[in-house]
Amino acid sequence: MSHHPAAEHFEISLQTPSGEISTAVGVPAGFVPITAILPLMRSLGGEAQVLEQRRLLEAGQRISCEKGCAACCRMLVPISVPEAFALTNAIDQLDQNERNRLLAKLDLAQQQLARAGILKQLSSLADSSEPLNDEAIEPLNRAYYALRMPCPFLDNETCSIYADRPAACRELAVTSPATECQEMTKQTVQPVPVAVRLSTALSLLWADLTGTAPRLIPLPLAVDWARRHKEEQTNQWAGTELFEKAMDKVWQYLSQETARRRNVG
Ligand code: SF4
Repeated sequence: MSHHPAAEHFEISLQTPSGEISTAVGVPAGFVPITAILPLMRSLGGEAQVLEQRRLLEAGQRISCEKGCAACCRMLVPISVPEAFALTNAIDQLDQNERNRLLAKLDLAQQQLARAGILKQLSSLADSSEPLNDEAIEPLNRAYYALRMPCPFLDNETCSIYADRPAACRELAVTSPATECQEMTKQTVQPVPVAVRLSTALSLLWADLTGTAPRLIPLPLAVDWARRHKEEQTNQWAGTELFEKAMDKVWQYLSQETARRRNVG
């Protein structure tokens, strides 16, 4: 959001289950598209994850994830509408060869999902006008992961869209040995807890702004979805409205997550 000339400055303080985030942010005074909120949200999500990891380190645990390991890049990655728009913009800005290469890989992934018989269900997930609960999505997650299909954005076990990767990818880290990640559904895989799932917060934000059902789009379908809905991407909102509503979703998630951990612990 820093590219906007006139910005209003806010001090924000967020209580996460692993400590407080206190930071100053600049919010554009004018009207901006939904994608303008992503850098701020990603930065807050990143700070929340640093606090989570610090707490685990202090408790003597260590994060096993290392560069070059992409075992988890075979799972279904759900992304919010704002992320789908931002990813599509990023792909559109690539040079033509790279763009065509990635679009061809997305196409191949969709063909594989169709052969496996789950493309229709994944598409209806993206287009559903009803919010779907985790129990309804779980069988689809399992069927997707059973394919062990590398993410279409994975090249030689490296993410080719690292700077633009979805929130769900940013939030996944484990403390269990990396070898356990060959089978991510095993109980022995110990993920780092996530204080605020940004894909959920962003999908609630989009639903609130547009009066639609909250939705998450499977990553291999996200660019197609964004292209089919490109007129919605031209909508603009006052920067402060976007910011306040986004913070509201983050606060809601954080307080539910804090209460959930209190009940578990
Ligand atoms: S977008 Fe990148 S980090 Fe996320 S699953 Fe795909 S390759 Fe992995």
